[in-house]
Amino acid sequence: MAEVQAKPMPVPDAISRPYWEGANQGIFAFQRCRDCGKAQFYSRSACVHCHGSDLEWQVAAGTGRVASFSVIHRAPIASFMADTPYVLALIDMNEGFRFMCNVLRCDPATVKIGMRVRVCFEARPGTEQKIPQVEPATA
Ligand SMILES: [Zn+2]
Repeated sequence: MAEVQAKPMPVPDAISRPYWEGANQGIFAFQRCRDCGKAQFYSRSACVHCHGSDLEWQVAAGTGRVASFSVIHRAPIASFMADTPYVLALIDMNEGFRFMCNVLRCDPATVKIGMRVRVCFEARPGTEQKIPQVEPATA
């Protein structure tokens, strides 16, 4: 049997490093623009709303709702085969930004648009980097 490659992992750069380092500490961080006050995700060097560059990192409460999702039955690469079926979703976070991730720790058939979720941090074998994902919020 052919060796299965590891799942792709992020390569933090100067702009995204605070996000990935936060994830390793159980912190879900996002950027907010000091010029217009709007949140953005993922991290960038300028605000996507007003093009301002005065951005600050904030810690999200980690709660949101499923805006859209798809149940993946056919893995895009071999390293995801064992996870199928799994959920790829767009989450509207309470702070006002949208986050793409997997919905973990539930039966994919139970995921619904509008479902309340909370951020969790996935550990992947062979790496120290934690991956922000979500799971159903029960309370
Ligand atoms: Zn702005």
